[in-house]
Amino acid sequence: MKKEREFYSYIYNSKNYFYGLESERINRILKRIPSKGSILEIGCGDGRLLNKINADFKIGIDFSIKPLIHVKTLTFAANVSNLPFSNNSFDVVICAEVLEHLDNTTYNKTLHEILRVSSRYILISVPYKENLNQRTAKCKNCNRFFNVSLHYRAFNEVMFEKLFPDAYIILIEKFGYRNIFPYNFNKLERLTGNYFIKKEIICPHCGKKDPCKRKNIIGKFLNFILIILRNLFFFYKKKKCIWILAIFEKREHRIIKNFKIEDILICPLCFKRITIKNNIARCNEGHEFYYIDKILDLRA
Ligand SMILES: [Zn+2]
Ligand SMILES: [Zn+2]
Repeated sequence: MKKEREFYSYIYNSKNYFYGLESERINRILKRIPSKGSILEIGCGDGRLLNKINADFKIGIDFSIKPLIHVKTLTFAANVSNLPFSNNSFDVVICAEVLEHLDNTTYNKTLHEILRVSSRYILISVPYKENLNQRTAKCKNCNRFFNVSLHYRAFNEVMFEKLFPDAYIILIEKFGYRNIFPYNFNKLERLTGNYFIKKEIICPHCGKKDPCKRKNIIGKFLNFILIILRNLFFFYKKKKCIWILAIFEKREHRIIKNFKIEDILICPLCFKRITIKNNIARCNEGHEFYYIDKILDLRA
């Protein structure tokens, strides 16, 4: 968990996200937000989406504190699998490009938490049918392989139908189309040393900065051959979409009136109400949480 926190703190330092695909992703989600009432974004990172949302009330949470400094609204450092809010607290809960990063235990708990704190809508967006072997790097320090985006699972439409047992899907769409060569040689690339290289990341196993092992001579040669093959047979490229997005509506929902943050905040340790005074949040059981750079650290 600590290494992962460092990983996300580190990648959010790169500022080049308002180009091409990333801005297409953000704009598509912005268009699909089903209500302008109270909004919670879980795993909001540096606020690249949340900062652009116009809503009556919005909150962002992330387990990594450093990126939260860029978010221009109320933020909490909290774990996505243990949300510090009471049941049915928000009109919309947004979870965009987060679920693919979670290990099995965190994943199941997080889905449960999203359903619990939403009073009506849930917006989920994830990569569509991603090939998890495709962007594999090898660490030059510990020699272990890892997916450079820390993606642990891939999604399709069928999985979406099973995400929330107590909610209907009211919209599902795929987006972010581009032409991709449909064949891959991942196993061969790994074996021959044609590793994927990405800058500005850290190794999730050992924490080494800029860990990606360079390609060896055989790897470079294979890379060269593959580039030629892909260009020679460019007409084999197929349109593939990168993301899938769905909006869910809870079977039993309620409308929130007079949203107040004091009414919904609960202690992530004992689930009792929290009161905030003089930059300290305290629950009835005496658990205390503090502001760090105007971010309330509620990680249990
Ligand atoms: Zn390593
Ligand atoms: Zn408590």
